[in-house]
Amino acid sequence: MIQITMPLNFLGTVYREIRQALVDMGEMFGLLNQPAEVVDTPNAPALAVQGGAIRLEDVRFAYDADRQILKGVSLDVGAGQRVALVGHSGSGKSTIGRLLFRFYDVTGGRITIDGQDIRQISQHSLHQAIGVVPQDTVLFNDTIYYNIAYGRDGATEAEVHAAARAAKIHDFILSLPDGYATTVGERGLKLSGGEKQRVGIARTLLKNPPILLLDEATSALDTQTERDIQESLHDMGQGRTVISIAHRLSTIADSDLIVVMEAGQVVERGTHDQLLAMAGRYAAMWARQSAEEEEAEAA
Ligand code: ADP
Ligand code: MG
Repeated sequence: MIQITMPLNFLGTVYREIRQALVDMGEMFGLLNQPAEVVDTPNAPALAVQGGAIRLEDVRFAYDADRQILKGVSLDVGAGQRVALVGHSGSGKSTIGRLLFRFYDVTGGRITIDGQDIRQISQHSLHQAIGVVPQDTVLFNDTIYYNIAYGRDGATEAEVHAAARAAKIHDFILSLPDGYATTVGERGLKLSGGEKQRVGIARTLLKNPPILLLDEATSALDTQTERDIQESLHDMGQGRTVISIAHRLSTIADSDLIVVMEAGQVVERGTHDQLLAMAGRYAAMWARQSAEEEEAEAA
């Protein structure tokens, strides 16, 4: 009996660790592709955060040597600023997020956070500094409490509830027959897209990172739910540096800086008003999306 249960318990622990690692990566990359090839330099110090200013200096990157993806991207994001990356699918927006998280190393140029090259600090400290809200928050087959508490080891019940309250999902959770003990995920209660994103927001609030990376965080939601969630994301961004990758331009129009990507390069940058006045690519995208939205509201 002991001989059987011991390995099973051991496997249970390993499984739990593996699935946590998979969720970290899965949230970041949408798919579970290659494991990280990046390693810490020996005795790499922890990132010393002083506000979370991010700088990309002539960043170049290729997944495969024969196909350049980022062709020299430079970008300055001040501490506490909100920057939006927009552009057609495949233009390299998510790749920038992956490089910032150091899932891959740049092949040219460098990325710094508060002046520190991210290749010279420990990955653990880097990952602690960045909160990611992806398009689709991954839920474990576990209680909703566990799913939020996962945001930070050792979080107290009061902290978990406070995060859920700030993410505006606490009342919903209390309305469930089993409250915070309700099992969610594939084999439990199925949450709507908006509810899942709120769990993701609560998780990230608990983690309390100085930098937020929102990769199409609301793209999969209907327009009304998107508006509701946008408000929570906006609140969460207060006092943090935010990089927001967005499909719907109306959600990022108030950013401090909007960067338009095309085929791995920055082709326009400015505020919403500056970009409209430029009457270039952003202005054209804005006109097209406004017309689509008007059509949708009239229908
Ligand atoms: P965006 O987020 O702007 O839609 P991505 O950064 O995801 O674009 O992708 C940019 C380019 O890199 C695309 O052409 C895509 O096919 C390619 N790409 C993305 N991930 C990989 C990968 N793991 N291996 C090879 N090519 C990739
Ligand atoms: Mg993308």
